[in-house]
Amino acid sequence: MRFGEHQLFFNLLRKKKRLIFFPLLCLMIFFPFAGHAFGAKVTNINYWSSSEYTRVVIELSDSVNFSKNLLTNPDRLYFDLLDVTIEKEVKTSFPIGDGILKSIRAGQYTPSTVRVVLDIEHLTDCKFFLLENPARLVIDVYGKHTDTVKEKSDFLAVKRRVVIDAGHGGHDPGAVGLRKLYEKDVVLDIALKVKKILSADPLYEVFLTREKDVFLPLEARTAIANRKNADLFVSVHANASPRREAKGIETYLLNWTDDEEALRVAARENKITLKQMRAMNKQMDVVDIIKSDLMRENKRDESIKLANYIQRSLVSQLEEQNDLGVKQALFYVLFGARMPSVLAEVSFISNLEEERLLSQDDYRMKIAGSIIVGIKKYFESTPTLQRVVELQNEGLHYR
Ligand SMILES: [Zn+2]
Repeated sequence: MRFGEHQLFFNLLRKKKRLIFFPLLCLMIFFPFAGHAFGAKVTNINYWSSSEYTRVVIELSDSVNFSKNLLTNPDRLYFDLLDVTIEKEVKTSFPIGDGILKSIRAGQYTPSTVRVVLDIEHLTDCKFFLLENPARLVIDVYGKHTDTVKEKSDFLAVKRRVVIDAGHGGHDPGAVGLRKLYEKDVVLDIALKVKKILSADPLYEVFLTREKDVFLPLEARTAIANRKNADLFVSVHANASPRREAKGIETYLLNWTDDEEALRVAARENKITLKQMRAMNKQMDVVDIIKSDLMRENKRDESIKLANYIQRSLVSQLEEQNDLGVKQALFYVLFGARMPSVLAEVSFISNLEEERLLSQDDYRMKIAGSIIVGIKKYFESTPTLQRVVELQNEGLHYR
């Protein structure tokens, strides 16, 4: 297998616990991955950091085998990438000091092994997975969890934080219509419209993963939403199909699927082949890992709810649309998102009629408005926001 997603949850909360967990970790130190990686290179190291969450990405020229281990005194987590060399120009030392990690270091440990060391300040969880095309090892580390209940009941902290992700960008045009309309341009315009309109509501704080025509890796988008501590994440895309007659709207959440069309959509958005997508989808440990992640904090239920509100709103406000429904698939851009998160395919750019519509400003405005209605309905269905509305009605100020 050339791909894989592995994660390991472990607790390092107390010294005592370490004694229990350490043998477990030792049992799990070796995770073999694809064997085709002879002569792979580390081409870049990147990270996104905050006090609760940090994502480290090791960019590679090919998939690799690796082992990992945890050492104490001083605490550090390391990954040995096997049959790998590090390119000379790669930056290998990063002081972090975010409360989770002290620093990240990398180097040629043996002639054929690159060691990446995460020096730990305070770590509660860690998970990691390999993505493909380009190959990269993504490591998510978590610090102490914010007391969400306390924060949400705090009147001042009740502003809803939304991250909108305009798909693709820069050298990645996304799907391209017959009339040469680019998905990246359409979805950026929609995202900018959502931000402009929704930001005018004082209850909402809106961030975009990109505000112009730049390339952003899929894992960076999720990292931005996590680092912003967003309450929800919506990735906006335009659909495409080799069947030119295919049209309509569908909204996805992260999960396993056996739906061929959903697999095809996810493969295209992940920029991997359908064969790679099918194989990843069938890999049971991947599925189990994602399911266990989704079950945490009811994220899956909340994502379903959010997907339904957005889908219904899009379908009802954009007339003459095929309702393709809420679906699920393994989208890289949703891997590791810590909040309810969905991916909306707002129309088919590969359909001549829908490409024409997507090129029109009023249609894009309708899509943006529909996404906003979906987001607002989602929040209105949550108890916290009801409380804010009640407090507003009592004449209190929330800012
Ligand atoms: Zn897309």
